[in-house]
Amino acid sequence: MKNRQWIRGNHEIGRKVLINGGWNISAQDPAWNVWGREMISEPIQNVSFGEAKQFAACYRTPYAVFMANSFGYNARLLGFDGIRFDTVIPSYECNSLVHDCGWRDDDGNLWPSFSVFSAREAWKRLYRIFHGGVTPDGCIQTPNAAGPLMAVHSFSDHHEIGEGYYMHAKTLKDGFPSDMIRANMTGQQYGFRAEVSIKGGPMF
Ligand SMILES: [Zn+2]
Repeated sequence: MKNRQWIRGNHEIGRKVLINGGWNISAQDPAWNVWGREMISEPIQNVSFGEAKQFAACYRTPYAVFMANSFGYNARLLGFDGIRFDTVIPSYECNSLVHDCGWRDDDGNLWPSFSVFSAREAWKRLYRIFHGGVTPDGCIQTPNAAGPLMAVHSFSDHHEIGEGYYMHAKTLKDGFPSDMIRANMTGQQYGFRAEVSIKGGPMF
């Protein structure tokens, strides 16, 4: 109720509200025991932080639909306008042959893969949810710490650079290293624009 009122208050003064989107699959959710394990990457990767206990997800599982539709469900329930994700594209590698992930080299060794087009389908679904499906004119925001993937990022409205450098650096030079920020994160060579969220840190 409190969240709904806060969101409504923002709408009344003309603001849109984006929630901060987490990623991967919580082992603390009751649904974990039912079908959490069907959606995680293999081998299992523990990506817990703080109090959150969670495992890396694979987009080539029902997770792609579950994740997007869960945000849609909650947007309908609470009335928010979009999501500001953490860096979720690309996600973690997976070598599950059950998912049709992974591949074998000539010597029979199993290697992991990341399904770009499974992530694309998830982002297409998210885009539809926040542009007509649930919210008429919403916003999907994706930080981009790992380079643009245009097949996926074409379906988000706003992009920002990864926060890892400028939140900890003491100088502009250290905070925005050209080889990472200009050459990798912004992807201007593809016409991909990314901005700084000015989230915090010693320089701001
Ligand atoms: Zn997989």
